Amino acid sequence: PFRRAERLAGIEISEIVQLSERAAELRRAGQDVVALTTGEPDFPTPPHVVAAAHAAAEAGQTRYPPTAGTPELRAAIARQAGAEAAEVLVSTGAKQVLANAMLATLDPGDEVLIPAPFWTSYGDIVALAGGRPVRLPCPAADGFKLRPEALAAAITPRTRWLMLNSPSNPTGAVYGPGELAALAAVLADHPQVWVLSDEIYSHLAYVPAPSLRDAAPGLAERTLVVDGVSKAFAMTGWRLGWGIGPRALIGAMAAVQGQVTSGACSISQAAALAALTGPQELLADRRAAFRARRDRVCAALAAIPGISCVPPDGAFYAFPDVTGLILGGGFADDAALCRWLLDEVGLALVPGRAFGMPGHVRLSFAYAEREIDDALDRLATAAARLA
Ligand code: PLP
Repeated sequence: PFRRAERLAGIEISEIVQLSERAAELRRAGQDVVALTTGEPDFPTPPHVVAAAHAAAEAGQTRYPPTAGTPELRAAIARQAGAEAAEVLVSTGAKQVLANAMLATLDPGDEVLIPAPFWTSYGDIVALAGGRPVRLPCPAADGFKLRPEALAAAITPRTRWLMLNSPSNPTGAVYGPGELAALAAVLADHPQVWVLSDEIYSHLAYVPAPSLRDAAPGLAERTLVVDGVSKAFAMTGWRLGWGIGPRALIGAMAAVQGQVTSGACSISQAAALAALTGPQELLADRRAAFRARRDRVCAALAAIPGISCVPPDGAFYAFPDVTGLILGGGFADDAALCRWLLDEVGLALVPGRAFGMPGHVRLSFAYAEREIDDALDRLATAAARLA
């Protein structure tokens, strides 16, 4: 009989994927469903990027790429970040950068500090690599951000990494330079702790969002910045991301990658090079569009009794507190509320528990305004029924 490896214990398909699939299923069955579940820009990959991919394929860039990435793309990433090419590893999405880093560094029982709410995959990737994810609750009252005292209290001799994600999925929280410096000051006393700074939403910040490399240069020797083209250039399907960090770490991660994928798709690398070196105005245009949607969502949420929301400073998610609706409807938890919303008003949202913070829901505004308005109308109708 089939037997799963022990390392897969507790690791399932993410609740986000499950919900999106259930919404699609209901739609196929003819039901009127609107879903704000996916974290994927609703605009297409820019045409000049697609053209560069065509050209690369035509020009025969169809052979195994170098494991760590093409020299051109590594150089372009390094230039942008003020790093050396040898400090850059190109991978199959930002997700593989995270997996490479954890597989390359964690021994059984090593601890990774993960501020909650967090992107759903962080804990599972750590667990898959044999580490122990340690959740640090960061409530709305703290703007969903890790406080230096909480960081200091959580560090043990087994702590290997702190994971930061600014702008954050799911809260949109952005750490300012002072906040990053305060966390860095705590880490100065704990040289065994490295920092993984996931900056994949840095192009979508509505307030200044410094990179950890700039805000905490003293940590450079133990910082891994994770970034990619998925969100900024609407290239989620191309599976292309990168890590920037010290050479020894990058080398270890490349060793993992060499045995897992042999390196990222050559065509996608050519496309990413065109994205990074081509016109950048589209980033500002998209940011303005997302900011307008953010304002629209926040205004609508503020008008719904039983819901309160910390306005997101970046990314394309809102993470409102819905305890009022959970209590009003007598639901067991946020997941039960989300099931009810889907069945009763045809609205798919992701429960906060998927991000390590129950009592909330995540609502993605990477959708057309028409869909966002429809979803918020449904939420208001639901709230009125639950009051
Ligand atoms: N990091 C965060 C915080 C994300 O939200 C996502 C995607 O949802 C990723 C990383 C994964 O990015 P990629 O598609 O490049 O693997």
